[in-house]
Amino acid sequence: MPLKIVDLHSLLVHELKDLYNAEGQLIEALPKMAAAAKDPALKTAFRDHLTETREHARRLEAIFKELDFAPGGQHCDAMEGLIKEGSSMIDEDAPDDVKDAGLICAAQRVEHYEMAAYGCARTFARRLRLKNIADVLQTTLDEEGAADKKLTKIAMSSINDEAVDG
Ligand code: ZN
Ligand code: FE
Ligand code: FE
Repeated sequence: MPLKIVDLHSLLVHELKDLYNAEGQLIEALPKMAAAAKDPALKTAFRDHLTETREHARRLEAIFKELDFAPGGQHCDAMEGLIKEGSSMIDEDAPDDVKDAGLICAAQRVEHYEMAAYGCARTFARRLRLKNIADVLQTTLDEEGAADKKLTKIAMSSINDEAVDG
C-alpha cells in the first residue's frame, strides 16, 4: 500500500523510499555503464561510483531503521527513464570517444536527479530536527556532487577533445 503523504515527515519518508528505489535501480545499471565505457578513467569512475552507490543504499536502510519504516513500496519512475536513456546510449553504434561522451552525459543526468532528491530530503530532515539523518543525507549528497564533478573532469580532460572528429 502506498504511503499517504500528510505532513513533512511522511513526505520525507516518501522521498527516501523513492531514493532507495532509485539507488537500487542504479546498482543494476552502473555495471553496464562501466562495461560499455571505453576510456579507462571513465570505467573506473563508474565502478567507484557503484561501490559508493551500494553504500548510499545501506545508509538509507539505516535511516529507515531509525525512522521505523520499511524501505520498499515506491518505484522511482524518473530513475527508470534516466537509466533507459543510458541504455539507449550503450546500444548506440558510435565511435568510442563519442559514446563515452554520451555515457557521461547520461550519468550526469542521474547524478543531478539524485542531488536534487537528496538535497530536498536533507532539508526536510533538518526542518524536522532529525539532525543525524540530515547529516547522513548530506554525506551522500556530497558524494553525488563529487561523482558529478569527476565526470566533468574526465570529459574535459580528453574524451570531448577526442570525440570532436568522431
Ligand atoms: Zn547515490
Ligand atoms: Fe524519483
Ligand atoms: Fe550517484
